Order: sequence, then C-alpha cells, then structure tokens
Amino acid sequence: MTHFDYDFFVIGAGSGGVRAARTAAALGARTGIAEARFFGGTCVNVGCIPKKLYTYAAHVSHDIADSAAYGWQMDTPPVFNWSQLKQNKDKEISRLNGIYKNLLSSAKVDIHEGRARISGPNRVAIGDREVTAQHILVAVGGQSFMPPIPGIEHAMDSDDFFELTRQPKTVLIVGGGYIATELAGVFAGLGSDVTLAYRGPQLLNGFDQDIRSFFTEAIKTYTRLKLNTDIERIVESGAQKEAWFADGSRYAFDAVLYATGRVPATANLGLVDNGVTLSDMGAIIVDKNFETSSPGIYAVGDVIDRVTLTPVALAEGQALARRLFGGPEQKVSYDLIPAAVFSEPQIATVGMTEAEARACHKQIDVYRSRFRPLKHTLTGRDSFSLMKMLVDRESDRVVGIHMAGADAAEIMQGMAVALQAGATKAQFDQTIGIHPTAAEEFVTMRTPVDV
Ligand code: NDP
Repeated sequence: MTHFDYDFFVIGAGSGGVRAARTAAALGARTGIAEARFFGGTCVNVGCIPKKLYTYAAHVSHDIADSAAYGWQMDTPPVFNWSQLKQNKDKEISRLNGIYKNLLSSAKVDIHEGRARISGPNRVAIGDREVTAQHILVAVGGQSFMPPIPGIEHAMDSDDFFELTRQPKTVLIVGGGYIATELAGVFAGLGSDVTLAYRGPQLLNGFDQDIRSFFTEAIKTYTRLKLNTDIERIVESGAQKEAWFADGSRYAFDAVLYATGRVPATANLGLVDNGVTLSDMGAIIVDKNFETSSPGIYAVGDVIDRVTLTPVALAEGQALARRLFGGPEQKVSYDLIPAAVFSEPQIATVGMTEAEARACHKQIDVYRSRFRPLKHTLTGRDSFSLMKMLVDRESDRVVGIHMAGADAAEIMQGMAVALQAGATKAQFDQTIGIHPTAAEEFVTMRTPVDV
C-alpha cells in the first residue's frame, strides 16, 4: 500500500478548511493544513466578524441620537475615534486568529504556514517543502472582483476597508449587493458622507421585490444614491479620487470602495495542471461529494461558488471529512438557507421570494406588514420595518419569509428552523407571540394582502 505523509491535506485555513481538517483529525485521519495569509480566512479576518463589529460601532451613533427621547442628556457632543475602533478590532481579530490556530493544533492537525499548490498526483508543495497526501482539499475561498476600468487601482476593496487607519470624510461605494449596502450603513453611521453608485435600478438583486423597494427607499435617508450608474474612470486629484460617471458628471471623494462581487481564488494552485476542471467563472467544479474532476482532490466553500456563505462552507467541509473518514453521514441541503444583510436596516430572508413562489405554486397568499418599531414611537426616527410571509395556498406551507428591520437576522434564524420543519401557516397562527416584540408580527399575520 502506498504510504502518504497525510491521509488528508487541506489548502486554506478558512471556515470550510478548518472545519474539514478538525473533523478529519477527530475521526483519526492524519491531517495537515496550509495557510498563506490568515487563520480563520475571510470571515474571521476581513469579513463577517470585523464587519459586524463595525456595524455595532455605527449603531452606537443611532443610540446616541435616540437617547434624548429616553431622557438622556449628553452635555458634550460625543466624538468618534476611528483609529481606536480599528485598534480594538485588530486586537480582537488577532485573538481569534490565535484561537483558530489553537483549535487546529489541539485537534492534532499539522500546520504549514505558506502558500501551497498541488505539485503532482497526491503532492502538495508549500514553499520549498513537499508533502504527500491521500486526499487533498482545496478550500482557498474567494477574492474581490473589480471591473478593469482605467484608474481602478485608486479604489479599495473590502479587505482594504478593514485596514483604513483614518476615516474618509466622503466616500463613494460602487455596487448594490451585500458588501456595498453593509459598508454604506457603516460609513454613514460613523459619520462619513456616503454616495452609493449601482448599475441597476434597485439594490440587492436576487432578494424579494418588496424588500428591495423598501430598502432602496430606506437607504436614501442616509446615502446619496446614484442608480443606473456606471463609472468609467477614476482619476487621482490631489489627496482625493475623482470618479467620472458615464453620464458625464465627475465628483471627488476621499475614498472609493468597490464591492462588485467576489470570485474564486483559483489562480496559481496547480489545479488545471493536475486535471481539475474549472467553470468559466474560475470556480472549481465538484460533484455531489465535493470531488473534482481529478480523483482524490476535493473542494468546498467559496472556491466552488455555490452558496458563498460561511455556514455553508462549514457544512460542506464537515460533510466531506465525515464521508472520507467514516463519520456519521451528513448531507448538505442547499434548500432553505437563511441569509442576512447587515445593512441599515438589516435584511434577512429564508425560502422563496414572491416571484419564485408564484413560479412554483398555483396560488400564493402574501402577508405583509409595515410598521414603526415601538422604540421609535418615542424617538420619532423615520425608521420602519417590513415583514413578509408567503404561503402556498394548496398545502398551507409557509414557503418564504422576508424582513427588513432591526434584529431581522436574529429573528430569521428561528423562522428558518420552522421552514425546515415544514411549518404551515396554521402552525404559525397557533403559536403564541412574545409581546411586545417585532417577531410576534410573524404569528399574528391574519389577512393576506395579495393572493
Ligand atoms: P454581491 O454579489 O452581493 O454584489 C455585487 C454587486 O456588484 C452587485 O450589485 C452587482 O450588480 C455589482 N456588480 C457586479 N459586477 C459589476 C460591474 N462590472 N460593474 C458594476 N457593478 C457590478 O457581492 P459582494 O461583493 O457584495 O459580496 C460578495 C459575496 O460575499 C456575497 O455574494 C455574499 O455571498 C458574501 N457576503 C455575505 C455577507 C453576509 O452574509 N451578510 C456579507 C458580505 C458578503 P448586479 O446585482 O447588477 O449583478
């Protein structure tokens, strides 16, 4: 029998890779992992976690503004210190980095720091070292995509955002998806003047239409929104960057941030040379067991570009390691994956949009509620929430739930469990609400607004 250095070697210590490595090692596989940049990957270092910390910071400004209505008197105007926030964030992220490394070493996974590539059948090179492995997992994630317009080098991406040591007073954000809308809320909450430019007519493509319309209006209360807009060039103008818009207008900003999608990071990994087929978009093509076209090479997470969310990468990594090394069987279900945008207001969703539901079912009952949250009855803040539920009339099953408003993400997690369990509208109706909450709205929606 051929002897390999490892049973399992993982390239990339992000969410999917770390979970796969730990699961494999716990099942007795001799496991190694290589990481070139930072342990924990995008989510921990330049994604979900630091982003959420910045959204908390942005929210403090709302609380301060709302505090007078609740009797608090601020005698001196509060001052926000960007560099203090960044330092605190950096400290926490390096603590988490350490935790990720410890998790791996205490699971007895060998750590190789450096850039790895597949160097031949069952072979991985990390710098000038080479190891052999029976199974190789590629879990290297993705990287920002920026359209190649002249002057794009003057723009930053979301990785650069987390390195900003000074707050730009004016910022242009390009894109209309997750990152653009989330960072618009962060910058605006922290006091920057934000312009958001998006090429389409409504933000958050792919989300339910009512949510998109609601959010596109809501964001106008704190950003300058330029829709149906393209940028042709970015020119440095002193300390500022000047964006030349396709309509001929030009505006200068302290910073320009592109959030125009992410692409799989499949370059320089020796993939094609070793028989791994990539899609036209550069994603690794895998079968239902996450195996590539090259037997013994697997891929999970953003690099396969199925559903580019951390919890999905975790599930994929764990399912693969269990299958390879004899753990309990686990199927990754891509149905009913809940998602949230940590924008202002927050958006969260599970199941079908109204358009999808109408395409799939004969008759859909639509329940919708728009209201001013109790908190803002005192503050008078112009802030509303929208909740929407879609029910298949024939089976009475709830097939989609959507929300824009405070705590939407926290509320949607429980809704996702209900939908996984196949909950019917009658079961939602039987459920007693928790009063006074926004979430109780979902169990008190009595009359469809649209059928
Ligand atoms: P998204 O896919 O969410 O959004 C990309 C945006 O850029 C879209 O509005 C898209 O427009 C626009 N765009 C794409 N290409 C161009 C172009 N050439 N010129 C101008 N605009 C363009 O990507 P993000 O970068 O915001 O985020 C990447 C991924 O990371 C997300 O899809 C998500 O999976 C994940 N993520 C998840 C978060 C969460 O769970 N809360 C938070 C942040 C990221 P159009 O819609 O017209 O195609």
